[in-house]
Amino acid sequence: MTRMLIIGPPGSGKGTQAARITDSLGIVAISTGDIFRFNVKEGTPLGVEAKKYIDAGDFVPDSVTNSMVADRLAQDDVADGFLLDGYPRTRGQVDALDAMLEKLGTKLDIVLQLTADNEELVKRLLGRAEQEGRADDTAEVIEHRLALYAKETKPLVDVYRDRGLLVQVDGLGEISEVTARILAALREHGA
Ligand code: ADP
Repeated sequence: MTRMLIIGPPGSGKGTQAARITDSLGIVAISTGDIFRFNVKEGTPLGVEAKKYIDAGDFVPDSVTNSMVADRLAQDDVADGFLLDGYPRTRGQVDALDAMLEKLGTKLDIVLQLTADNEELVKRLLGRAEQEGRADDTAEVIEHRLALYAKETKPLVDVYRDRGLLVQVDGLGEISEVTARILAALREHGA
């Protein structure tokens, strides 16, 4: 059983790889971006609140995001392992997650960092904008999301490196090639 995070910049392929990893390991995928988008689509109060931040490429406030994740982690299906995708993104979220896991009597096994350079990320995100028309995939908002990642989220990698949990994998290349690379690295670390 594995409890893990996947951390990477917007466009690094986190969501795609998260689905493949969780299939392979038989664990639950929890994507905060997907949960937010679902709530936006359904027009729930959470979705209405989150939409203004998401469309601007800003983070949804920690208080909102943390309680959403706490609710999700309290559900039964995570008992056999999980992969958090897109959370934590701030130092406050790291601390909140630590508290949630402690309360559940569990802890993280692995933090997977997916790397890719900025030029490739912008290219991928603009390509996705044409195909899927996500409101937050415009050139301006993409720049903002990448900058926010660099400032707020990338430093979290050091926190998890210090805890001895970090596994880094290069996210460039064919999707299935990257998956193979990830699964090999995870196996090496006991997943
Ligand atoms: P990407 O990794 O491409 O930015 P996501 O689907 O992970 O895409 O997230 C989309 C948006 O959802 C983010 O830009 C942000 O507004 C919101 N979001 C997702 N996860 C979080 C989080 N942990 N904290 C705050 N906001 C979040």
